[in-house]
Amino acid sequence: MDFSVLTLFPEFISSFFEHGMISRGIEKGLIRGHCINIRDFSTDRHNTVDDRPYGGGSGMIMKPESLMAAILQAKKNDPGSKVVLMSPQGTRFNQEKAFELSCKNEGLIFVCGRYEGIDERIYTSLVDEEISIGDYVMTGGELASMVIIDSVARLIPGVLGSCESCRSDSFTDDRLEYAQYTRPEEFEGLNVPEVLLSGDHEKISLWRKKSSLQRTFLKRPDLFKKNKPNAEEKAILRQWSQELESLARE
Ligand code: SAM
Repeated sequence: MDFSVLTLFPEFISSFFEHGMISRGIEKGLIRGHCINIRDFSTDRHNTVDDRPYGGGSGMIMKPESLMAAILQAKKNDPGSKVVLMSPQGTRFNQEKAFELSCKNEGLIFVCGRYEGIDERIYTSLVDEEISIGDYVMTGGELASMVIIDSVARLIPGVLGSCESCRSDSFTDDRLEYAQYTRPEEFEGLNVPEVLLSGDHEKISLWRKKSSLQRTFLKRPDLFKKNKPNAEEKAILRQWSQELESLARE
């Protein structure tokens, strides 16, 4: 899967492609990262990429000519790829969207805005999808593109060491992941739950289901509205509620 990032700050992105899990995915040949400097496509001698907004107002707008040339170059490099505009006005990114993008396995071209954003005509004629990473405004789209690439790439089979870890990740099936522990068994007077040391896989799996439900209930109860508890989950929640009641009665 190809990720192309169109930016005015290529060093920002190339360094991202050179580190951690992303660089290992590239080394394994599972993903490819391309960084395109929008300024390379400006045609005047000052390499201008922005101009004042029509109608007045503060700030600058990214000019359409260099942006269009950069997008067309990226499309030529990876025909069939999808153009995604990073924008606070786009559809909110989440784990479901990350799964969707990783499954489609089509190349993604990220357009990173700067200043007050891009000329609207680029959005109208060349953008397939507009994505936001949250309801706040950043100075540029680079961080947003890296957030998306990172979360999509780790879902591509083989990029992470084990696929197992993605399956229990938070937000998969609208639940948070269970509590995790590692050595030592005792830390600052706090012990690892005994069941995790028991070697009994069935009991461990049940404990993890319960922990996942408890954390979802306490931290993100809204997720139960998106995906209602199934019969097994209801039984676990009922049992937990009974445990709490008997504790309260003590
Ligand atoms: N004036 C624009 C508005 O109010 O909608 C905001 C422009 S912002 C200062 C500059 C660029 O940062 C945007 O073009 C976009 O590429 C990127 N950006 C800012 N916040 C973002 C967000 N929450 N998600 C994705 N991209 C964002």
